[in-house]
Amino acid sequence: MPMLGLKIDVDTYWGMKNGVPSILQTLKEFNLKGTFFLSIGPDNSGRAALQLIKNPLFLKKMMWTNAPALYGWKTALYGTLLPAPMIALSFPQIVNDIIAAGHEVQFHAWDHRRWQDELSGKSENWIREWFARGISSFEKLTGKKPTAFGAPSWLIDDRVLAIIKEYNFDYLSCTRAKSPFIHEISNILEIPSDLPCFEEIDAQKGVSIISDLIKDGGIHVLPVHAEVEGGIFQNQFRELLRKAINMGIEIVPLKVIKDKLDVKTIPARKSKMELLPGRHSPCAV
Ligand SMILES: [Zn+2]
Repeated sequence: MPMLGLKIDVDTYWGMKNGVPSILQTLKEFNLKGTFFLSIGPDNSGRAALQLIKNPLFLKKMMWTNAPALYGWKTALYGTLLPAPMIALSFPQIVNDIIAAGHEVQFHAWDHRRWQDELSGKSENWIREWFARGISSFEKLTGKKPTAFGAPSWLIDDRVLAIIKEYNFDYLSCTRAKSPFIHEISNILEIPSDLPCFEEIDAQKGVSIISDLIKDGGIHVLPVHAEVEGGIFQNQFRELLRKAINMGIEIVPLKVIKDKLDVKTIPARKSKMELLPGRHSPCAV
């Protein structure tokens, strides 16, 4: 049976507050379940302004995707001129709504922005602390430990894979690889997002590009962002879901894909970093 996993990342305060309720409404109308990967702690999005100076590709993406329309102007100041608000921790009721609607909830980040911009320069202790804070707060919010981790911006390294062993995750969704594999260092199953995000491809052709990629009858994972598919691309998201349903594709949370995969037949390897089309920094693949 062809399957499409929905990996819904929540990266910002705006996305948690506005994007998640919009996506919940869409999934309810289509009677579908997905996996929400939550950012728990501070929204330091404003620190991205520092990236504008350092990374010309980032500036290009900001202009091209009209980032202020995506996230609102306030988001651009969090962690700089405005204090960084907590993301999921500010909205326990929305977290409850996600769970009550029957969706899978997993761990995406403590501080998404700092991981994304600063991971390579941070110490192992910083990484340990980032997980300890994130996961204990996740547990307070949801009443249980996460069983999966999806790294911010699909950015991981060998230190991360070693540190997360102690959390005994059932699977990871940390890469943009083409097919599932076992992470060599941590010995954990990787269920990658193999499809492009809407904001990486031509907005007008996005639905047809993605629906062409999923019609082969295989198992695919669509990376969704609360800020995007719960905001300016909500109509395209709905159109894609409608198309996938008409194609006979079963739309599922990632844990269903995990149960479907035969781990014994999946190869073990290391991931590597690669700059994918439409992105401003390399992703693990
Ligand atoms: Zn993210």
